[in-house]
Amino acid sequence: MSQLIVMKFGGTSMGSAERIKIAASITSEQAKKSRVAIVVSAMSKVTDLLLDTLRHAESGDKATIEKNVANLCERHKQTAADLLADPGPVQDGIDALAAEFERIAQGMLLLGDRPPRSVDEAIAIGERLTALIIAAYLAEQGTPAQAINAASVVVTDGVFGNATPIMEATRAKANSLMQPLLAQGDVPVMTGFNGATVDGKPTTLGRGGSDFSASILAAALDASELWIWTDVDGIMTADPRLVKDAKVLDEVTYAEAAELAYNGAKVLHPRTLAPLVEKKIPVWSKNSFNLAAPGTKIVPSLEEPPGARAVTSMANVALVSVEPASGAISGTRVMARAIDALDIVGAEVLTLSSSSYRQSFCFLIRKDELPVVLKSLQDAFALEIEHGYVNPFLVDENVGLLAVVGEGMRGVAGLAGRVFTAVSREGISIIAIAQGSSELTINLVVSRDGLEKAVKAIHAECQLGA
Ligand code: ASP
Ligand code: MG
Repeated sequence: MSQLIVMKFGGTSMGSAERIKIAASITSEQAKKSRVAIVVSAMSKVTDLLLDTLRHAESGDKATIEKNVANLCERHKQTAADLLADPGPVQDGIDALAAEFERIAQGMLLLGDRPPRSVDEAIAIGERLTALIIAAYLAEQGTPAQAINAASVVVTDGVFGNATPIMEATRAKANSLMQPLLAQGDVPVMTGFNGATVDGKPTTLGRGGSDFSASILAAALDASELWIWTDVDGIMTADPRLVKDAKVLDEVTYAEAAELAYNGAKVLHPRTLAPLVEKKIPVWSKNSFNLAAPGTKIVPSLEEPPGARAVTSMANVALVSVEPASGAISGTRVMARAIDALDIVGAEVLTLSSSSYRQSFCFLIRKDELPVVLKSLQDAFALEIEHGYVNPFLVDENVGLLAVVGEGMRGVAGLAGRVFTAVSREGISIIAIAQGSSELTINLVVSRDGLEKAVKAIHAECQLGA
């Protein structure tokens, strides 16, 4: 039994006693065939509940803290009662974790503040609750399992709320903690989403980060494969809610899956694949609600003919244009400072497009980040704007981002032209185009009301459907 499979169960796969039973049976079936470690998310909606509670705590709302903590306890204790013959010890554990959360929330209430490291410590409790429950259930069903807080495994930098793993340190901890368990046939059940700095400060990896936790663990333990269990059949050629004949792809490359994730496909956290590239560990995206579906296999490379493979879109975005008002100021410097201003507030540039003639450029960001981004840009360029060296920033919120993804698309003559023509034919105006940086993606910014139509048109034009 030398093979090790790391499996990750997301929020919906942990969402109820019924779903946890299925996750546990998938785990114990696999544990008969190979060694297994699992990574779990919080129950669906729990992270939102925890974050919301902390916001209320900061604003002094004690009643909401109490109400939400009671909810949290009730949902998890009921789940434990539905699953376990003897739920007492786990319910005590749930009470202790809920009390830990409440203590942090009460601290924020007193402070009138929400320090990022305390937020990370508090919100990881959602995952600690599910790890506790499923580990106990697995054990009761005859598969020895042990809940592990990833704060003692995943070592990260100190960027609270969006930390990055330090792989060598993580590898050492993961192996010393988990290899002995795996060797004696136990299933380690690690919390997704969280980690800790070298000196032990709690961190999290960003929303939806449990996928990333699982890939970090798979890489650290040299797993044979990573299986990510979700509630869809795999990676699709388009969002099936938009495109009727969208189909599940049997295989995609790491690069394609990452591009799709970065451009709005919800199936994988964008950073998931990075830790696996070096060791070439394959990933399966599978549906725990439909075990008959084989899923999508994500692999280092494929023999497929080059071309478009999938199209994805993002609606809640905004385009910000920056333009020097005078040729006397360096366009490169304006761009560098603008990007720096985005970095300061941790905003991600989704796509960027520039014109060398007027040295102007525009970039696309998530709409919910617009207020902080604009504030940061105003601060960075206060002087230039005052003296008329930089024009006031233009913002267009009526836009959407669309990405056509496929390995080696650049090698296919006329493909970009066909994509643009298909979109124009629908009467949709293309606001910006970016292709250069990655050979496998064409990004289009189109008017918001044309986004869905454009996705359909491209899907049809490239014959991606079933
Ligand atoms: N529970 C975390 C979240 O909701 C992490 C995850 O589910 O992947 O963001
Ligand atoms: Mg997820």
